[in-house]
Amino acid sequence: MRAKVITRRAPGGSTVSSQQPLIEPPPEFSVDFRMTTYFNYPAPELQKELREIALAIVAPGKGILAADESTGTIGKRFKDINVENTEENRRKYRQVLFTSDNLVAENISGVIFFHETLFQKTDDGTRFVDVLKKKGIIPGIKVDKGVVPLFGSEDECTTQGLDDLGERCAMYKKEGCQFAKWRCVIKIGQNTPSYQAILENANVLARYASICQANRIVPIVEPEVLPDGAHDLDRAQKVTETVLAAVYKALNDHHVYLEGTLLKPNMVTPGMQCAKRAKPEEVARATCLAFSRTVPAAVAGVTFLSGGQSEEEATLNLDAINKFQGKKPWPLTFSFGRALQASVLRAWQGKDGNLKAAQQELLNRARANGQAALGKYVAGTVKGSAADQDLFIKNHAY
Ligand code: 13P
Repeated sequence: MRAKVITRRAPGGSTVSSQQPLIEPPPEFSVDFRMTTYFNYPAPELQKELREIALAIVAPGKGILAADESTGTIGKRFKDINVENTEENRRKYRQVLFTSDNLVAENISGVIFFHETLFQKTDDGTRFVDVLKKKGIIPGIKVDKGVVPLFGSEDECTTQGLDDLGERCAMYKKEGCQFAKWRCVIKIGQNTPSYQAILENANVLARYASICQANRIVPIVEPEVLPDGAHDLDRAQKVTETVLAAVYKALNDHHVYLEGTLLKPNMVTPGMQCAKRAKPEEVARATCLAFSRTVPAAVAGVTFLSGGQSEEEATLNLDAINKFQGKKPWPLTFSFGRALQASVLRAWQGKDGNLKAAQQELLNRARANGQAALGKYVAGTVKGSAADQDLFIKNHAY
């Protein structure tokens, strides 16, 4: 690089020289060097657009239905109810979810699609995206391309999909998606998470988030600390704090506009194999404390994943988090996959005749979680055919 030598007078009167790139600093800067902190905020209109989308998603009493299971993952759900994993059955199942009564929009503000679903239609030929928009529900899209191993690590991973993300985001925005999701996975073991995995995943989430915002899409940043393991609540909290601190450092490094982002974290719970279980109040305390230490107040909202908790457990924990008295400047709501769909799947069983019963399950669970997002859920008041079913899947992929 061409450089010019700049001479400055040092405090003692002697002169110092430094090599500087031949780029002139902006005139308002009186110093003679360009800092790495020199960057542009997004244009005010873009900030406004991103902020409004994010805030609409976390409106009081509302949350997200994560219906973005990849073809392989939905196949596992179908296997449990003896439904063949064909494109038509996937379309029919998503139709069950998306054509439920308009009341669902009182508690569901957004739906995350999988790529295939975005282009599917109802029996009468209406695009799913339009069905949702008519209900006032915001369409979103999963944009990551899944996890791959980190070479040389102890079974840790990173997430792929950055290469063509800009073009895909531009296309998804045109198709009506207003927000996106990208999931990274962090594992707790004796020697993990490693510094390598924490840094790599934080950085990939930051690159993803900045590419989304450049394309007018609100990024949901999901660094999921998996619940697999025998670790206790305390360790889960410390790991979550370390991971979130790295994520927000990377987001800052990449000039991500935080008011136009959402965080999709795990709740802080003991590992699934830990004998000492935690009450909702303990989960709430550990979770809120971890976030208060690491999640900037500017972030528009927190939309939890359910992570293998049963439907009722996830609702109770979300409720306790919202009842918890402490520092929590963000809306705290849900973006559940398994914990919003287990009862729906069980009621549906792949049969057209079960449509209404399945849709009622979704309405019930959405209402329960909507109440929990306000800290107003009363335990056991919403029943579901799979409300207490264990939804944990080892080393879960999405
Ligand atoms: P679960 O609620 O099933 O954990 O999934 C939510 C999700 O979107 C994970 O990426």
